[in-house]
Amino acid sequence: MHITSLKAIPFELKLKEPFAIANETVDVGLNVFIKIETDEGITGWGCATPDSVTSETNETVMKAFNAVIKELLIGKDPTKIHLLNDLIDQNLKGNSSLKTGINIGLYDILGKKAEMPLYKLLGGYKEKIETSVTIGINPVDIMVEKAKEFVSQGFTCLKVKVGMDPNQDIEAVLAIRDAVGNNIKIRLDANEGYNVEQAINIILTLENLDADIEMLEQPTPAKYLFALKEVTAQCPVPIMADETVLTLRDSLKLVKMEIADMINIKLMKIGGITNAIKANIFAEIAEIPVMIGCMNESMAAMAAGVHFACAFKNVQYADLDSALDFEKDIVKGGATYKDGFVIPSEKPGLGIEVDL
Ligand SMILES: [Mg+2]
Repeated sequence: MHITSLKAIPFELKLKEPFAIANETVDVGLNVFIKIETDEGITGWGCATPDSVTSETNETVMKAFNAVIKELLIGKDPTKIHLLNDLIDQNLKGNSSLKTGINIGLYDILGKKAEMPLYKLLGGYKEKIETSVTIGINPVDIMVEKAKEFVSQGFTCLKVKVGMDPNQDIEAVLAIRDAVGNNIKIRLDANEGYNVEQAINIILTLENLDADIEMLEQPTPAKYLFALKEVTAQCPVPIMADETVLTLRDSLKLVKMEIADMINIKLMKIGGITNAIKANIFAEIAEIPVMIGCMNESMAAMAAGVHFACAFKNVQYADLDSALDFEKDIVKGGATYKDGFVIPSEKPGLGIEVDL
């Protein structure tokens, strides 16, 4: 099989409502759809979701795609994924979301060629995974309403964004716990918004008031590894690293230095499915459970996260909700939601159709 055509198509997906976290507010999801056509009539779809976290924009993705990727991959066998990863890495530094978009497209082709859904092709550990849905930072009453809305839709796990104002964070989390009862999981994500003392105080306060927090994600600034390690050592709830872990090398460092209890692997940060497989393997050996998270990803990208999460035992947590946030996605299939779980498509590859 050979690649006959490669296209990158930028598309802005409008969010239903602006989304605020500790370090930014956004109202559109920037996605660059990747279409890979082959001489066997199989078309692979991938998607790059550039983000400030990966220091990319739609423009940088398009520029690197046109300058490097296109020429490099035309005529190559798309099923030789490791070889193509190596070729891309030798010719292009950084650009992790672009590399992810390409990598996802190659796995989509592999799945279609094998006539297997991607999660089974990758090893098929489970058929579905519980996912959190995310509540952005807002006035407390709005956050509570959002929480109630998600629970009424059947979701069982809420990820509450915190990290802007410790007092309001405590108030919001307690109000949400009060509103949803004790059977709903609540995890927190501070997106680097606290210092060590604030992070520990907030968790101790919430635990004393029986808020029952499942985990706290990225309490402290990404670059201060020992701050995160300190919070991990002192906090009674598990600490998850997200922004601290961008690359495969970061993941290894986290594992070796025991900086956090858990790790949030996002395909867009780590450069795709192949690298996520490697990071998950050394996390599993170190007995560090993995969460698969997402950026503001269209289903074309998020479906890859769902398939990945269901393929591996050590992926014990999922935060795969971005495709729910758009007014209208241009992708059909990929994954469905039921009773708090996200379920990968049984169709070959990602199982998506893209209306482009
Ligand atoms: Mg996070």
